[in-house]
Order: sequence, then structure tokens, then C-alpha cells
Amino acid sequence: MSDPFASLEARFGEALRRDEPLARYTVARLGGPADALVTVRSADELADAVVLAVEAGVPWRVLGGGANVLIADRGVRGLVIVNHARAIRLDDDGQVWAESGASFSTLARKSANRGLGGLEWAANVPGTVGGAVVNNAGAHGGDVAHLLMYADLLDSAQNRALVRWTADEMHYDYRASALKGRHGRYVVLAAVLRLEPGHDPAALNARIEELVAHRKRTQPPGASLGSMFKNPPGDYAGRLIEAAGLKGTTIGGVQISPVHANFFINLGGGTAADYRALIELARERVVATSGVTLELEIELVGDWD
Ligand SMILES: Cc1cc2nc3c(=O)[nH]c(=O)nc-3n(C[C@H](O)[C@H](O)[C@H](O)COP(=O)(O)OP(=O)(O)OC[C@H]3O[C@@H](n4cnc5c(N)ncnc54)[C@H](O)[C@@H]3O)c2cc1C
Repeated sequence: MSDPFASLEARFGEALRRDEPLARYTVARLGGPADALVTVRSADELADAVVLAVEAGVPWRVLGGGANVLIADRGVRGLVIVNHARAIRLDDDGQVWAESGASFSTLARKSANRGLGGLEWAANVPGTVGGAVVNNAGAHGGDVAHLLMYADLLDSAQNRALVRWTADEMHYDYRASALKGRHGRYVVLAAVLRLEPGHDPAALNARIEELVAHRKRTQPPGASLGSMFKNPPGDYAGRLIEAAGLKGTTIGGVQISPVHANFFINLGGGTAADYRALIELARERVVATSGVTLELEIELVGDWD
């Protein structure tokens, strides 16, 4: 049988790794191997990797910071593309352009240093610009939906076709967009945000430090996926899990945080199966005690069942 990754290997050489364990590419520090993995360093490389995978009939998936994905212990079939396309351009008129692999929190801090306001909330949000655009990342009352001018996407169903989607075309909702769940087709190559020029950088940085301190007080440290479940309308997932008596519950190496019950912490040696078991337990108990069906905020990725 011919090697499905041959053309990718010809393009990326030793940067293409086989059977690469994914734990070190995810914030929760777990996950089995990808059949193949390549780290790309520009939007062009990102597009090339996707197009070559499509041509070879290989399933593919982009990983940004791996901050919102729970990767199966059996890993991911096909190609994982780790996105380190990180160029950023800030204009004094408030327009901010970033490649999709740029760190979202770095973008927030650089914008504040230039006196561009509106992205301070993102200094706390792990992951990349691409992940933030797909998920409509948000915190402290801000979100991507309110700032995005447009994103440049590769539509892999149309070879190298580039499309530009505005925030309207993203159909943004709470931690949701038209792109979420459509990882097999569209790739975010770059995004442009509209920020507010003319702010005092010191004031913006002071606001960032306030938000960082608030998070340190209210959210647990350690390897986690951030919020595991979406907050249901008018309530908080953490409150419901706590009310179900699950704070501090541990399965294997993963614990529902005693500090904040919507954070599930990998204590070390935790597996994706441990996470999954805790997710199911939390869902069952919360339905039984509150009648609410919790919806995952994180995404299950890879070879699960
Ligand atoms: C401690 C902690 C705190 C957090 N706090 C917050 C918070 O306050 N607010 C919030 O909104 N989120 C929060 N999160 C979740 C996470 O930071 C966000 O969801 C973030 O936007 C994920 O970005 P990422 O690059 O890590 O995406 P990944 O986890 O790598 O990917 C997420 C999904 O997006 C897809 N994707 C990634 N890049 C691209 C691309 N370029 N093109 C197409 N698809 C792509 C992936 O295939 C996957 O389906 C937190 C997470 C942690 C661990």
C-alpha cells in the first residue's frame, strides 16, 4: 500500500512526525498519538498542509493551543497540523491583523501596549487566534464576535479557494460559530479585529493585571481545559456540579476542582478516559439533582468509540 503521507513528507521533510504523542500539544497534557503531525510556521505552510492532506485523502485537523480539546487516549487518525503561524500586525487606527497561530493572549498584551483597547479580557485566554475565532472565545463580558472584522479562511472543499467571512457570516453565539464542528472543511488562516485606538497603555495594562488577579483568585491552577461545560441560560455549570455534590471528586488521575467545579484538573497521569468518566458522572448527577442537561464547552477529538 502506498504511503498516504508521502507528499506531506516531501513538502515538510523531518517536520512531519509519525505516531506523535499529542499530550505535549494540549493544555490538559494528555492524548494518544496522531498518525502523523506537522508543525507549520506560516499561513502558507498551513494552507499547503491542508491541501496536501485533502489531495492524499488523509483526514486532517488543525490544533491551535490545544486548550479546548480532549484528545482520545487512542489518539487521532490522519494528520494533525499544529499551527505556529504567528505573524501579527497592529495599526494605530485600531485594526489588528494576526495569523491564526498567533497566541491570543500575546495579541491582547501587544495591543494594550500600543494603546489599542477592547481586547484586555483576552490576556487570560489560552490558545491561538484561530481557536478563538472558531470558538467565539470570550471572558469578562468581551468576546470575539464583538471585535472581529473578518477572518480569511481556506475552503478545503474548493482546493485553494480563499474566502473572507465577516462576524455576521460566522453566526456567532455563546462559544459557538458556523465554523465550530466543521474542522474538516474550513481553516482560519488569519483574522482582523477592530480595536479602539488612543487609549493609555498603562491603563489598559492595569486592567489586564486586574483581570489576571481576579482569575488567580477564582480559578484553580494546574492542567485543565478551562470550563468543561457551557453555562446553561441563567445559571452556572460550576454551581450545578457543586450542588450535585461533586466538588473534589476524583476518577483516576483527574479531579473536579475543589476550587471551581467546572474545572477538571489533570493531577498527573490522568487519561482522556478519566476525563470522559467524570464528564458522564457530572452530567448524570446534574440531571438528577437539577434537571439540567449540561452541554460540553470543550470538544472531544480523535478516536473515541
Ligand atoms: C485554563 C483555561 C482557561 C480558559 N479560559 C477561557 C475563557 O476565559 N474564555 C474562553 O472562551 N475560553 C477559555 N478557555 C478555552 C480555550 O482557551 C479557548 O477555547 C481557545 O479559544 C481555544 O484555542 P486553541 O487555539 O487552544 O484551540 P484548540 O483547542 O487547539 O482547537 C479548538 C477547535 O478549533 C479548531 N481550530 C483551531 N485552530 C483552527 C484554525 N486555524 N482553523 C480552523 N479550526 C481551528 C480545532 O480543530 C478545534 O476543533 C480556557 C482554557 C483553559 C485551559
